[in-house]
Amino acid sequence: MHEIVNVTFELKTYEYVEPFRIANNVEDKAHNVEVKVYLKDGTVGIGEASPSYRVNGERVSALLALEDDVKEMISGEDVKNYRRIFNIMDGLSRTAPSVKAAVQYATLDALSAVWDTPVYQILGGHKDRIHTDKTIGIDTLKVMVEKARKTFEEGFKTLKIKIGENLKEDIEKMVAISEATPGASYIVDANQGYTTKTAVQFAQEAYKQNVNVVVFEQPIMWNDHDGLKILRYASPFPIAADESAKTRHDVYDLIRNECVDFVNIKLMKSGLSDALSIVELAKTTNIGLMIGCMGESSVGINQSVHFAAGTGAFSYHDLDSHMMLKENFRGKFKQERDSLIPTL
Ligand code: MN
Repeated sequence: MHEIVNVTFELKTYEYVEPFRIANNVEDKAHNVEVKVYLKDGTVGIGEASPSYRVNGERVSALLALEDDVKEMISGEDVKNYRRIFNIMDGLSRTAPSVKAAVQYATLDALSAVWDTPVYQILGGHKDRIHTDKTIGIDTLKVMVEKARKTFEEGFKTLKIKIGENLKEDIEKMVAISEATPGASYIVDANQGYTTKTAVQFAQEAYKQNVNVVVFEQPIMWNDHDGLKILRYASPFPIAADESAKTRHDVYDLIRNECVDFVNIKLMKSGLSDALSIVELAKTTNIGLMIGCMGESSVGINQSVHFAAGTGAFSYHDLDSHMMLKENFRGKFKQERDSLIPTL
């Protein structure tokens, strides 16, 4: 009854409302792969891959070419035995993590229909709502301050601010944003744009100027574990790994080597299976967690909303990409300003 009989991949292209700029990168479109799994009884489960060449080395064309292989790998499996399907998809951890995520989620989405239970409750049902931040991309100081002010006034208490291209300007921007949005918290993301030295300078100066940075995300190159460790102890703010932390093995190494205070989990880097492992690793070692996104539409953000609410594991949620894309909303969650509420 609940065996998988077919899997389809479909390319979906979404335009950004405006170009999204981060350190050394600009995006104007998201090229995503929508995955559907079909069960024998007619149930359909849906997932979305939002691949990142910058982070994961994934090319959309290569992902689309996996359609027949994935179908062959999981056909005949019963979604009630979803761990079996998770384990099969773990084989794609290095080559196509976003497809791994989409297939694993589509499996749970189908199971959710079969059991008439929302995915967040299948995953633990820890919370029934979460609060997201909203991201301000790199722009001039004037534009960033205005966007921050407007977003804060809309009800987003945590703002994610992209920096990492110019130390002096970044400090000026953060001080100005801080003055314009009193009471706000900031996740500051340099997307690997700093050196260890400039990252230490940024953190110490922003701290002196009383900027309320709650997480300082991936200041330096993903593979510079020595630099991260120095930074972790020199920065007054918690240091988070994003680009450095893809699989459960990456996170194990980062924690063992004392490189980070926080990890930014993204389903597109880890899939659900590694994300679940990272949640337990972080709990075990008292490391903080946030959850982020790539260029997911509401179909993809839906996955992280249910994962985050179900596990209840995250101090911060950066699940805003669907608000940056032109799309018709299709998530199984309700949004009330910064609140994301998972539904069936
Ligand atoms: Mn990041």
